[in-house]
Amino acid sequence: MKKNRPGSITLRITLWSALILIALELLTFHMFRFVSGSILEKTVRGYLLSSVNENTDKIKFYNADNEEGSEDTDNMRIRYRSGWLEIDDDFLDEINDVQSALYTSDGSMLYGKNPIARQMEDETFISSRIYKYKSAPDSNWYVYDRKLSGQGLGDLWIRGVVTLSSEEMQLHDIIRTAMFFVPVLLLAGIIGCWMIARQALYPVRRIEKTVSEITQGKDLNRRIEVTGIDRELYDLATAFNSMFDRLEHSFETEQQFTSDASHELRTPMAVIMAQTELALEKPRTQDQYRQALEVIRRQGRQMNTLIASMLDYTRLELRPENYPLSDLDYTELVNALADDMSLIKYKNIVLSAQIAEGVRIQGNDFLLERAIRNLIDNAYKYGKENGNILVKLCLTSENMAECHIIDDGSGIPQDEIDHIFDRFYRGASYKSGRVPGSGLGLSIVLKIAEIHKGTIRAESSDKAGESGSTFILSIPVSNSPISNA
Ligand code: ADP
Repeated sequence: MKKNRPGSITLRITLWSALILIALELLTFHMFRFVSGSILEKTVRGYLLSSVNENTDKIKFYNADNEEGSEDTDNMRIRYRSGWLEIDDDFLDEINDVQSALYTSDGSMLYGKNPIARQMEDETFISSRIYKYKSAPDSNWYVYDRKLSGQGLGDLWIRGVVTLSSEEMQLHDIIRTAMFFVPVLLLAGIIGCWMIARQALYPVRRIEKTVSEITQGKDLNRRIEVTGIDRELYDLATAFNSMFDRLEHSFETEQQFTSDASHELRTPMAVIMAQTELALEKPRTQDQYRQALEVIRRQGRQMNTLIASMLDYTRLELRPENYPLSDLDYTELVNALADDMSLIKYKNIVLSAQIAEGVRIQGNDFLLERAIRNLIDNAYKYGKENGNILVKLCLTSENMAECHIIDDGSGIPQDEIDHIFDRFYRGASYKSGRVPGSGLGLSIVLKIAEIHKGTIRAESSDKAGESGSTFILSIPVSNSPISNA
């Protein structure tokens, strides 16, 4: 079946950035249009008002033909009713695109300019308010009418008109230019985003390359170079590196385990081979055969114990999840175990117990039984003739349930005590060949303690053989209420 290749982050970042850029540019563009449009409109209205208002002072009425006007000969004079009107030569008939004209209230233009005078012929004057007038479908005008006041002027109006067209054209030009630049800027923006995304994700590609080189080449010594990487990716790279550390460690541990295991198996195997060859070399007496077979059986048992312990250890190491924890009555478990094991008749050792009542923990009964059994087994193995073993269960102020296995046997020399939890480590007593074992018992106990988030420690006096040993398995107490049942 064909696998779907997941989408590219670079592409997604670029698309999103492009989308945001387009939205921003459209927004800016419309804001610009709106703001510049309203500024334009405000300016034009201002011009219209000021032109018309200024013009109201520029007209005077004289009652009789013979009445003298001002001395300014440039002023315009128009006959009006029984007298005449004098229009100052400063009359602003066209300024800032505003065109003004003087009208009588019946709509006849007396003086000035109005390019839409014909269209507006029938329009009545509207006092003191700017209003819009459409002279053609695409030609909008602002109109402002103002009635004159003063002697003889009561029937006159000034009408100012201005069109937005020329300014609008300018605005359109600006917008048209912007329309050309917007896509160019957009394209530049998208290319920029793509380059930034690529640049930002470059370390990811570097990490991916190194990781696949490590996994394909199986060179577990290599690590991802973390210098110059940004913080988020630095965390990712260090997480990968610590994963490789752990992988390398487990790989080395596995290799070490295999080599230790084969080394441990080689000794009994060599003895078996040597005994067999010796027995078959020439005819032997029945006693000699019996002796050879006993040696072979002892070594076989040793191998059997070793293999069983190795299997147990590997199961715990690889599949701790196969041993789920649940709330259990630790008091009952330790009590039952101490009772059972006190029946062992070995070296005339007496096992006694001091068990606190109602101790409950989160634990796996199979594993805990296994751990405590190992510790008690050792106490018997390394205990002295007619000695004593004490199994004690108590609670500490730190909410730990401590199981002490105390013997008065050979004790552990201080230089050995740091190694006894190492796999396949066996103390001097083994080397002297006195005690059978695999060297895995305490490693298994340590694993079990770890699975229970607890600890195991050993205490022994400085002088081996004098005060015996104490092993303390410490497990956190369960939060659930202690049952008195
Ligand atoms: P094994 O007992 O099979 O040798 P263990 O892992 O159980 O392996 O123990 C490792 C070593 O710790 C033993 O070889 C022994 O030297 C030492 N040891 C363990 N328990 C005791 C004990 N109760 N007293 C003295 N030494 C002990």
